[in-house]
Amino acid sequence: MALIVQKFGGTSVANTERIRNVAKKVQKELKKGNKVAVVLSAMSGVTDQLVGYTKEVSELRTAEELAEYDTVVASGEQVTVGLLALALMSMGIKAKSFLGWQAGIKTDKIHSKARIEGIDVKVIKDALKKGFVPIIPGFQGITDDNRITTLGRGGSDTSGVALAAALKADRCDIYTDVDGVYTTDPRINPKARKLQKVAYEEMLEMASLGAKVLQTRSVELAMKYHVRTQVLSSFSDEPGTLLVDEEEVMERRLITGITYSKSDARVTLIGVEDSPGVAAAIFGPLADGEINVDMIVQNISEDGKSTDITFTVAKTDLKRAIAAIEKAKKVKYKKLLTDSNVAKVSVVGVGMRSHAGLAQQMFKTLADKGINILVISTSEIKVSVLINEEYTELAVRALHTAYGLDKK
Ligand code: ASP
Ligand code: MG
Repeated sequence: MALIVQKFGGTSVANTERIRNVAKKVQKELKKGNKVAVVLSAMSGVTDQLVGYTKEVSELRTAEELAEYDTVVASGEQVTVGLLALALMSMGIKAKSFLGWQAGIKTDKIHSKARIEGIDVKVIKDALKKGFVPIIPGFQGITDDNRITTLGRGGSDTSGVALAAALKADRCDIYTDVDGVYTTDPRINPKARKLQKVAYEEMLEMASLGAKVLQTRSVELAMKYHVRTQVLSSFSDEPGTLLVDEEEVMERRLITGITYSKSDARVTLIGVEDSPGVAAAIFGPLADGEINVDMIVQNISEDGKSTDITFTVAKTDLKRAIAAIEKAKKVKYKKLLTDSNVAKVSVVGVGMRSHAGLAQQMFKTLADKGINILVISTSEIKVSVLINEEYTELAVRALHTAYGLDKK
């Protein structure tokens, strides 16, 4: 007998008919002789609406205000867990819902983007032992001073994986509206293929580089605790994509996926003084403002006097980034340029560790299409380039073909 954590996303529980469908998925797993614990999202659209309400009455600036925000937005999941318990009971299945605090989901105090610190699984284990299907709301937890927290948007993936880790479950199935992880976004490239297995590390890169199937934090947890995590659709019976250790990815491939993201903007400082401490003077105020910087390039100046620095920040942070730099007295530059019409395209694959020339293949492919590269950044298993946004689809398709990923 295996213990499976099933997590269902917002589209899978979007209405009562779909909640009945989820109940059938649970039943199917039980019929195999397995034990099941369930984690749910709110009905799709509900969290957005709840967030909207809070913004209508508050600027949400202080920690106390964000604590109340959490009280409001955590409520969406309360509805779905109760409804699923009722649906299962109507099928003669023993089920019981537990809110985050009842289920012992302890988090830190960073309201609206809290992190799970531990799960006291006693209540859930007890319920499982007594033959119940415990149903837990994703996205929420409790601080040690008894306040409700939420984990950041999309956080119920993280709840699912964290619960699977804490229960030492045999697998965590993340049911969503796509049937797995693809070599690239099938919406912009019909030749995308579904992957049977992806290494945790590849998934981590892909999630943070724009593949929206899983919350990045959930992949981090899966990797850390070696949780066998499967991404699959609640609307079909097909197997999905399994996240596994690198050694287990048997398919011999060099590149696993191509991702893109249109959420970043480029900032360039022209004529920055070339002396020690300049980078620190620029990036210090950004860090203080909690503005994440992603790609960075700085060149060496010919005359040793001035140089240019380019970096990217989230489009949503651009205004604040400019303000932070303009306010930083220590930063001297001639001109500040920004560009929001950029996209980051990345190729990801653990094969990069052992094969040379994969980056060059990317540059050549883009050059052949006449696409100019603005910024390049690399890690051991990925190469990212910043390009003009209008070439995103073209670049993704060309790279997909060049690395032999197209569906046959
Ligand atoms: N309901 C929350 C959200 O929409 C959490 C989740 O769905 O993962 O962000
Ligand atoms: Mg979701």
